[in-house]
Amino acid sequence: MTRTEKSQPRAGSEEEVKTGAEMAAEADAARAEATGGIECPKCGCRHWRIYKTGPKGTLVKRRRQCRNCGHRLGTTERIET
Ligand SMILES: [Zn+2]
Repeated sequence: MTRTEKSQPRAGSEEEVKTGAEMAAEADAARAEATGGIECPKCGCRHWRIYKTGPKGTLVKRRRQCRNCGHRLGTTERIET
């Protein structure tokens, strides 16, 4: 018995498929939001280790250190209600 397997396109599920680039862009956006979207001025990465957070009235001050190159940066965020 000889049978050739043919790949049959499954109807209905094709619209859900995303390209790798789209998924990468989405993951990137999610990551950027989680870290405040700040790019390291030295190496351009967005992986920060926040080592100090302190509220100051309606402001939040954060000290962050780049996970990649160790560059330190301070940010001030305003809490909006
Ligand atoms: Zn860096």
